[in-house]
Amino acid sequence: MPATPGVPAATVGRLVTYLRLLTAMEERGVRTTSSDELAGRSHVSAFQVRKDLAYFGRFGTRGAGYTVATLRRELRRILGLTRPWNVAIMGMGRLGQALADYPNFDEYDFRLVAAFDADPAKAGLPAGGLFVEGLEVLPARATELTIDLAFLTVPGPAAQAAADALVAAGIRGILNFAPAVLEVPPHVHVEPVDLMAGLKRLSYHVVARAEDDAA
Ligand code: NAD
Repeated sequence: MPATPGVPAATVGRLVTYLRLLTAMEERGVRTTSSDELAGRSHVSAFQVRKDLAYFGRFGTRGAGYTVATLRRELRRILGLTRPWNVAIMGMGRLGQALADYPNFDEYDFRLVAAFDADPAKAGLPAGGLFVEGLEVLPARATELTIDLAFLTVPGPAAQAAADALVAAGIRGILNFAPAVLEVPPHVHVEPVDLMAGLKRLSYHVVARAEDDAA
């Protein structure tokens, strides 16, 4: 579905959290919820929850809150999770192999369909249930398998060239694990994943808490 203009990236991140909470509620047989409950469990304010949802329409009833199943269905639609997504891995080193072995992509119909690497020595090696393929077949395989999204797991210096190859093959979304800021055309979205940034935030919070405790 087309992105709604002006929706902050942080809102999209929180929608994913709300969806996770709603899914857990539905599994427990909970039928209705409120912005207060979603807010408490997401560590944001109820105002923030209502504001995030208001970008996409009106979902709840004043006083009665939200029907869990309905809001969950709407969030799945907004997040584009009502259709299958074919995903490839670009770069079959340590991280690429670990992703290929991850068993839970099929939640919400993400399908790992191909694995590519520039190193000819890796062509044909097993990767999860797939076999590694060379870059020379990327354009043809991307069309044949209708690959939509890719994990980018190549070294930083190779990341832009690898992203260019993915874009040229028609891939429209890249989850970028490489420490590189990528330039892509406007129709392509890059979502960075940064483990080191997470560790730095963690170190800040642990130090800040220790200083609070010592004060
Ligand atoms: P690795 O060296 O084990 O594997 C990289 C693979 O990419 C190799 O198989 C190599 O042949 C392949 N490659 C190189 N250039 C390519 C190209 N142009 N096209 C396709 N394949 C190409 O590296 P790794 O340890 O798996 O790490 C992969 C990347 O992930 C690195 O950039 C690393 O910094 C990053 N990383 C990120 C996180 C994170 O949280 N974001 C965590 C760990 C690693």
